[in-house]
Amino acid sequence: MSSRLVCFNPDCRAEYASTEVLYACTKCGGLLEARIDYDRAAAAGWKQLWRERRMSNAPLDASGVWRYREMLDLFDGFEHVVTLREGNTPLLPGAKAAAYGGLDHVVFKHQGFNPTGSFKDNGMTCGATQAKRLGLKRVACVSTGNTSASMAAYAATSGLDPIIFIPNGNIAFGKLSQALDYGAKTLQVEANFDQILALVRELADRLGIYLLNSVNPFRIEGQKSIVIEMLDQRDWKVPDWVVLPGGNLGNVSAFGKGLRELLDLGLIDKLPRLAVVQAAGSAPFYDYVRQDDKAHFPTVTKPETLATAIKIGDPVSYPKALLEIETSGGVVERANEQEIADAKAVIGACGIGCEPASAATLAGIKKLVAAGTMRADADVVAVLTGNVLKDPDYIYHYHTGVLKGPHGEPLTSTFGNKPTVVPNDADAIAALLG
Ligand SMILES: *Cc1c(COP(=O)(O)O)cnc(C)c1O
Ligand SMILES: [Zn+2]
Repeated sequence: MSSRLVCFNPDCRAEYASTEVLYACTKCGGLLEARIDYDRAAAAGWKQLWRERRMSNAPLDASGVWRYREMLDLFDGFEHVVTLREGNTPLLPGAKAAAYGGLDHVVFKHQGFNPTGSFKDNGMTCGATQAKRLGLKRVACVSTGNTSASMAAYAATSGLDPIIFIPNGNIAFGKLSQALDYGAKTLQVEANFDQILALVRELADRLGIYLLNSVNPFRIEGQKSIVIEMLDQRDWKVPDWVVLPGGNLGNVSAFGKGLRELLDLGLIDKLPRLAVVQAAGSAPFYDYVRQDDKAHFPTVTKPETLATAIKIGDPVSYPKALLEIETSGGVVERANEQEIADAKAVIGACGIGCEPASAATLAGIKKLVAAGTMRADADVVAVLTGNVLKDPDYIYHYHTGVLKGPHGEPLTSTFGNKPTVVPNDADAIAALLG
């Protein structure tokens, strides 16, 4: 049997053709994951092949996802690929950030350099490709964030109709405006997130709309490319740690799966440890890994954080994420609003910048180093998930000293950088600048 979808539940493991339109196992309701039948004999030549493709201008080779298409061989060929030349995101050293976190060195893998400004593009290119392959005309998601921005762009560029469902009165304007710009039909529903998800599932079946929410196993496959590209950029030197923020936990699931596959194929010789950092007001996975009872997930009913991309109380991919944390010897940390805000300003002061959720990485590193979990001389790659311009209000409020936490509590502008009002007077300005 060739590449297929397999139920993630170890007691079920039902298998489905990759052409079936499914969002969960029909037998047990479990998560689905892609299983690729790798050409093991050929794998020894892939590193060189992938490196050579960087010289090519062919669209698939120019994409930092499809360049690694041997790891994404799920689509019966690649003629339906939808690409905006995603990936190709840099590794950027941050000296001030390393010092702040207590590390000798840190390198940021900045996914904010993607076409719509977040790592969601690495997955969405695969999700949209699957929609085209299935011959579906419409795609939908429930999100006000980076997922809708990304889905709208990939749908628009490939002639799919994007539909975004948003809970009424719960709108992140920076990201929603991208979705409007890319032409997504946007429906505000008088219901909460879970109710809308149920509604959309029914409509998807009835109207033949393809759902591109975060459980979609094709999106997870695409996000594997983030760690593959990172290792290619490091000439396959495996870091000690890969640190990333955790919301729905799809990304950590993708990283872990990709790394295990690379190890299995003999392309790397060890796994890096994965460190997931959650916002303290929205940290059920932090609690879950610490509790003995793994049969019950401690859902947070009212998640709270200004880092909206990780404001998720009921992360769908937690079973996969648990496996990856356990397999890699990983850890889960949490950071509060003040810690995230200050870490974000430090990343900004490196000339790098990121959205608030991304800065949870550095806040988490600082705590892990202080606790002795992470050594100061460790080789650490932190993944910045979103672009600095996703959330300009947050930045302006922080630097002008008026940023307030989810309960209206004032946060301290530890590294504030307020604009100064000056008179229209050269002497006065010269005196000020020294
Ligand atoms: C989606 C998102 C996250 C959370 O990723 P999960 O896969 O849901 O854990 C973090 N940061 C940004 C910027 C995101 O868009
Ligand atoms: Zn199942």
